[in-house]
Amino acid sequence: MNIFGDLWLAAGDWWTTRRLRFCVSQRYWSIVCLHESPPDTLLRATLERAAEHYQFVSLEQGLQHLQRGDFKRPLLTITYDDADRSVYDYALAVHADLKIPACVYVCTGYIREGLRHLTHGSPRPTMTWQELSEWTAAGLDVGGHTVNHIPLAQATSGRARWEITASMQAIEDKLGIPVRHFAYPWGIYTDELADWVDKESPLESMATTVSADNYPPQRGKHLYRRSLMPSAICGINWARRFPEDSFVQTFRRHFYRRILRSQAPVVFREFHAADTGKSCVSEQREDI
Ligand SMILES: [Zn+2]
Repeated sequence: MNIFGDLWLAAGDWWTTRRLRFCVSQRYWSIVCLHESPPDTLLRATLERAAEHYQFVSLEQGLQHLQRGDFKRPLLTITYDDADRSVYDYALAVHADLKIPACVYVCTGYIREGLRHLTHGSPRPTMTWQELSEWTAAGLDVGGHTVNHIPLAQATSGRARWEITASMQAIEDKLGIPVRHFAYPWGIYTDELADWVDKESPLESMATTVSADNYPPQRGKHLYRRSLMPSAICGINWARRFPEDSFVQTFRRHFYRRILRSQAPVVFREFHAADTGKSCVSEQREDI
């Protein structure tokens, strides 16, 4: 694959998105991925503006609409990855007050450490289990996001499955709620793992970072999801489209995905060296 291949793929993606949005302009489900929450006044204003165009739904409600195909308006779900402390500080009160569903995807190792590690920049504080229980008490959802936040495509298949099931179990033990939704760290996974998720795992949905919307009929448990920077959220024209649907952004996405695959970042290589491929015993594995 070369740059012309990226151009060709981008043209196909861009045209498909435009055609779908034109043909079924009200029958799609957008899922937004944030990490940090915007300040509460900005988040509140953004959600109120989005509500003029979208019907907010939880992941469970969205899946039901997708299965039945009964859309009166486009659907929108807000998700937050890694349980950043700002989600407790700002987003909790706004979502509870406006009664707008949201899901936090929790990496259990980050909660134990109290920090989430970023690819660039210093670690940031996370929510505690107590704060997460306040989140669920407000009627908001918690999903899984592995134990160690590793790229699952570079783990053995047993380790990858353990990262999913052990984090689900830890959340269920700590918060006393069933975990039915999950998000891959960085959106990275293998076809083999996706197959296991779809056919054998107890999960109801698996969030990716494939930047697109979801259209009925649903196939499998994997959901498309759009990653947004908190600072970019106020620039979105909610009634029209997401900025990354432009041709230039679609091309950039294909280009960078190819570069990422051909040159695995250092953090991935370090992890690969650490994964010895031994049997997955939770007490040993959790310290990796
Ligand atoms: Zn993450």
